[in-house]
Amino acid sequence: MRERASRKLTVTNWARGEGAGTKRYLEDFIARLGLAGFEPSISSGHLTRCRSDDSPLSRGRVLVCGDAAGLLEPWTREGISFALRSGRLAGEWAVRIAEAHDAVDARRQALNYAFAIKAGLGVEMGVGRRMYALFARRPGMFHAAMTGFRPAWRAFTKITRGTTTLADLVRTHPAARRALAAMDKG
Ligand SMILES: Cc1cc2nc3c(=O)[nH]c(=O)nc-3n(C[C@H](O)[C@H](O)[C@H](O)COP(=O)(O)OP(=O)(O)OC[C@H]3O[C@@H](n4cnc5c(N)ncnc54)[C@H](O)[C@@H]3O)c2cc1C
Repeated sequence: MRERASRKLTVTNWARGEGAGTKRYLEDFIARLGLAGFEPSISSGHLTRCRSDDSPLSRGRVLVCGDAAGLLEPWTREGISFALRSGRLAGEWAVRIAEAHDAVDARRQALNYAFAIKAGLGVEMGVGRRMYALFARRPGMFHAAMTGFRPAWRAFTKITRGTTTLADLVRTHPAARRALAAMDKG
């Protein structure tokens, strides 16, 4: 990430996945690290899918979480913590649905699960979508700002360590909120 972004990289289609472009970027990156020439024993990729606002989170007494619900961070595509956190919520609400008095109560609990997901992970995904949109618009500039501006880099490392989230940063740091709003406009 601290390496300079490749000029050849196009990111406009990353939401759908652009296998060949991503592969070129990886090869470039490996070469810049001086590791070109080593044959990888396994090389694979995977198309990750993010939910949209109206993607279902339940049907009847079935709740979906993690990848099945399209819950992952739109910018970094981090999915493990989203799977764990949504899995825990799904477990909690599955108990409530199992203990529901009737179908109406079960339905209410399923809606409450969807509400809990949207109020927590949904907010995080909203900030991630904005970050992704900025990155896609100006990948080189975004990359330079992220790696060259010390507070931004510190924030990024905290996010990747899991000690904070994008949504928390924006909520607790007015400067981050202002910077994001300014970049949205720019
Ligand atoms: C190549 C790759 C690299 C990734 N790298 C990262 C990363 O670096 N960091 C990160 O945060 N995320 C990463 N992700 C995403 C992350 O792995 C997923 O978001 C996360 O594992 C989702 O967890 P999950 O429990 O929802 O689904 P999964 O981990 O896919 O678990 C679903 C399980 O259900 C099983 N299953 C499916 N159908 C059935 C069935 N009918 N009956 C019984 N069992 C079934 C599957 O075999 C699987 O074990 C990566 C994903 C891929 C594919």
